[in-house]
Formats: sequence, C-alpha cells, structure tokens
Amino acid sequence: MAPLSRRHFLSALPLGFLSWRWSRSSPLPTRGTDTKNEQIKIKKYNPLGNTGLKVSDVSFGAISLFDPNVIRYAYDLGVNYFDTAESYLRTQSEKFLGEALHDVRSKVIITTKHGFPSRLAKQFRRERIIQRIEASLKRLRTDYIDIAMIHNISDLSLLENEEIQAAYTRLKEQGKIRFTGISTHNPKVTLKQALTNDFPQVVLVIYNHLEGPEIEDLIQQVRKKGIGVIAMKVFAGGKQGNLKTLVNARQSYPQAAIRWVLRNPHIDCCIVTMSSYSHVEEYVAVSGQPLRPEDLEIITAYQQAVFREYCRVSCSACLAACPQGVAINDILRMVMYFEDYRMEREALRYYAELGDEKKPTICSSCPGYCEKACPYQLAVKDKLLHAQRILQG
Ligand code: SF4
Ligand code: SF4
Repeated sequence: MAPLSRRHFLSALPLGFLSWRWSRSSPLPTRGTDTKNEQIKIKKYNPLGNTGLKVSDVSFGAISLFDPNVIRYAYDLGVNYFDTAESYLRTQSEKFLGEALHDVRSKVIITTKHGFPSRLAKQFRRERIIQRIEASLKRLRTDYIDIAMIHNISDLSLLENEEIQAAYTRLKEQGKIRFTGISTHNPKVTLKQALTNDFPQVVLVIYNHLEGPEIEDLIQQVRKKGIGVIAMKVFAGGKQGNLKTLVNARQSYPQAAIRWVLRNPHIDCCIVTMSSYSHVEEYVAVSGQPLRPEDLEIITAYQQAVFREYCRVSCSACLAACPQGVAINDILRMVMYFEDYRMEREALRYYAELGDEKKPTICSSCPGYCEKACPYQLAVKDKLLHAQRILQG
C-alpha cells in the first residue's frame, strides 16, 4: 500500500472541494492515468455467474459513506461493481452513487436492493413496488438497474408473493431491471432454495473465514447453476471499530480477510465498505492476490480474539431454543452495525423497524435458553440486554 498516492490526490484538489460541492452538471474530477501509484488498481475481473457481466474481484459496498468522492476514486482504480440499497443512509447512498457515476454509467455495474418484511406481505402492492424502484432509478440517475435484489431475505417463500413477482417481471420487461437477485444472512436455507428458484440470478451472501466454511458446498452448487455469487461481511464483524490492534505495518487484517474470501473460485467478487480514500487503497491493493501463509496467522489471531464474541449471524442455532421468538441474530447484527461499523443511526433505525414481539423485552427474567444452544458459547442473554440498552433509543 502506498499512502502517498492519496495525499497527492488530495493536494491536487482545490480548497473546499472535499466538502462535496461539485456541480451536478460537471463531471467529477478523476485521477485517471495520473495516479502516482499504478500498483494500486483492480487486477482481476470475474464473470458474474451467467449474467455475461464481468466484475472487479474487490468491489464497492456503499452502506456507510461520508465522502462521495470516494466512490469516484474507487472507479478510477478500476472498481466496476457498486452495491447500494434503498435503505442505506435513508436513500442518500443511492444519490451519492448517481452523482459519482452517472457520466460513466455504461462502464459500471450497479446493484440496489429493496426490502420486503414478510410480516407486511399482505400490504405489498405491485404499483407501489414499481414506484419504489423507479424512485431508486431517479436517485441513481440511470434508466436501468443492473441487478435488483430483494434485500435481506431469510426465506425464498417470500418470492411467491404475486405482487412482488408481477412488479419485478414488469420492470424487467421494460428494461429497467437487467437481472434479479437476493441478499441474505441465512444462506443455509436460501442458497438451498435458490437451486430450485429462478428469481435469484445473483446472490449476495454473508461469507467470511468464521462462517464461510459451512456453506462452501452450497456456494459451489449455486455457482454451478449459473447464479453469480457475491460475498459480503467479509471481515467477520471487526471493521473500522476494533480492528486497529490487529493491524500493523507489515500485515493488514482486512487485506488478509479479503484474500481468504477470494481464494474461493466460486466467489465472483466481494463487496467491502469503502468509506474513505485509505479504505479504497487498502482494499483495492488486494485485487488478484492469492492467500498467503501470513494471512492465516493474522486470521487465526482474529478468530481467537473474537471466538466467544462474534455472533455467526448465519448460524441461527439459538433461534429454535427461544420460546419468545426473539430475533437474536438480527439484533446482534444490528449491534455490530452500531459498535463495529459506527453506523449508529442506521442500527437504531433497523431496531426501531423490528416488530416489538421480536425484541428482547423479557430476556432479563428468562433463564437464557439461547445461551445453552449457542455452539460458540456466546453470552447471548447479556448481549441482548446490552442491545436493548443501546438500540432502543
Ligand atoms: S434470554 Fe431472551 S432470547 Fe434468550 S431464550 Fe430467553 S427470551 Fe429468548
Ligand atoms: S448467538 Fe450463537 S447460536 Fe445464535 S446465531 Fe449467534 S452464534 Fe449462532
């Protein structure tokens, strides 16, 4: 990694530029071939399932973004796949992508996602769904979405909803959606279902060194079917918050974690949240690199540090043990957003949107059946009580 290149880039900008004030009519400034460090660029593009698209192995996640110029910087370094969602930053993430990429639209691949909580299924209306997706098109400043995903789906039976089916079919016929997909934190169920369901042409799936090995067979099967596979949550929870102590001048835990994910030939690309120029450089530098023995050392150190702390969101082993139906892994994922990702407002909003019946309101008087069911001996009950304290606002 070469920290100088970012400094050169920043010093070339006029004062005040970083306050995000470019004119809508002006193309964004670009480093292009002026980059001082030609080493840092995307070196590998992979076919995305059977879509015919080729995506940068290291790609852009826009869940948390403070300076939209960072998007353009990633593009200049060769990133061509950008992931956002209607819900990210309350639609602002889509707007940032539109601002940053509209003049290079044909050269990038954009995914956005829309959520449909199954408890509201009776209220879904095709016209309203179409309106939501057309609003995303407007924010993204484009006529089409490359991949329109159903956001955070835990069971593909939701896709049997006629209103959802009709809306996505019509938008595809109109050319406003090229491919359809899903994002999921419940891959053991959804990937199996995807083998016999034609809606997911691309899946965005939680996959990392702590909870990846158990689903590698399924990933291979869906990829063999021609479904594109994109990995998310590749850092296994740490992110900007508690990774610092594991990073030194010689080794970077995030880089090791990305190399671990990309060593799997059935993963087409991974998305990582790039909130700053330094993130872009650190992550893009990994493109095309094989996993190294020293990566396994730092990954092992990380695993030891978090073994009894990190909720493997995709494991779900505790859910059946809870007589109250608390959404344990969803809530612990929100805590991760709050504490590790520093996305406090988003985490509070997600928690507020959760049905009250799924919140840990009676955990304090429960013996903690969930803890006994957790194969990783997490202090689940304490974690939920902590979640209740920090997330209830
Ligand atoms: S402590 Fe809470 S989450 Fe755990 S089993 Fe009891 S009610 Fe369910
Ligand atoms: S709390 Fe434990 S059992 Fe429950 S999802 Fe997390 S890791 Fe799995």
